[in-house]
Amino acid sequence: MNKMEINLISDTVTKPTPGMLEMMWNAKVGDDVFRSDPTVNLLEEKAAAMFGMDAALFCPSGTMTNQIAIKLHTRPLDEMICDATSHVFQYEVAGYAFHSGIGVNLIEGNYGKITADQVQEAIKSPADWLPKSTLVVLENTTNKGGGNYYTLDEIIPIKNICSNKGLKLHLDGARLFHALVETGDSTKNYGEVFDSISICLSKGLGAPVGSLLIGNKEFINEARRIRKVMGGGMRQAGFLAAAGVYALDNHVNRLKTDHFNAKEIADCLEKLDYVKSVKPVKTNIIIFDLQDSWTANVFLEKLAKNGVKASAFGPKTIRFVTHLDVTDEMIQQVKKILKSISAG
Ligand SMILES: *Cc1c(COP(=O)(O)O)cnc(C)c1O
Repeated sequence: MNKMEINLISDTVTKPTPGMLEMMWNAKVGDDVFRSDPTVNLLEEKAAAMFGMDAALFCPSGTMTNQIAIKLHTRPLDEMICDATSHVFQYEVAGYAFHSGIGVNLIEGNYGKITADQVQEAIKSPADWLPKSTLVVLENTTNKGGGNYYTLDEIIPIKNICSNKGLKLHLDGARLFHALVETGDSTKNYGEVFDSISICLSKGLGAPVGSLLIGNKEFINEARRIRKVMGGGMRQAGFLAAAGVYALDNHVNRLKTDHFNAKEIADCLEKLDYVKSVKPVKTNIIIFDLQDSWTANVFLEKLAKNGVKASAFGPKTIRFVTHLDVTDEMIQQVKKILKSISAG
């Protein structure tokens, strides 16, 4: 079998395209800590305008944009409400406790999605012995939920509860554009509903580095201070911001291709004896369970021998992610390999 290297570990593994590299190479830069990098300023203004919000802040990672938002929306001894599988709880090193001194109130959602009723029920009444519920964090699309997405219609009732009860609403939109190309909802409407939005440029959009935190002017001014204290003040960051500008201009609409490719792999998996179940595939993430006689490690070794990299999401659970650097030829090859794999 022809050995093609195929990396389905994450959509973070993409390399800059020639067009993106050219834009990075030609970027006008300055010192962004003094706010004098024109390309960073351009990227931030572009993102803010896209969402109809006042301002944006370019940060090294989505973890940083989420952690800054959590820090600004809460005080120590508060709690944030989120789905039990959410990135802010699972994969940010308990930063909510470290940076913000808050607790978490976890909701058992449906493939990463929580409902307005669940949020309503989770909000604690004021009492001296209870944490204050001050923040709700939604994730769209959901990572551990298998790329599931909310429509704006599902989010608005949650927003209304937050407004009535005085809670802030933050969006972890690391893969928001994957949701938007499916739902057709607009970025401007998202800007109206959320107090702050975090988006990743280095996931499906294919930039090498970077996330944006978007919000009102006062919030972003404070966010800039928190970014600095976290060590995220960057100097000639315009080279990186240029990749972000290119990604927003060129790599949003093509996400549909990644979704199509993911469905194709999922359809193949559904028919295989060694696959127990496949989570519903809505965007670019495929999560599936192997039959009891298998382990994720054995399966991943077999894939690796055929040049395919993927990751374990549990002892018998595998995650594949499709992205910009996965071609149709690679998809056909993955299907061939999956069909050829057997026990022993
Ligand atoms: C990747 C991701 C982030 C941010 O991760 P970084 O690696 O820090 O950029 C945040 N939320 C979700 C849902 C993610 O998938």
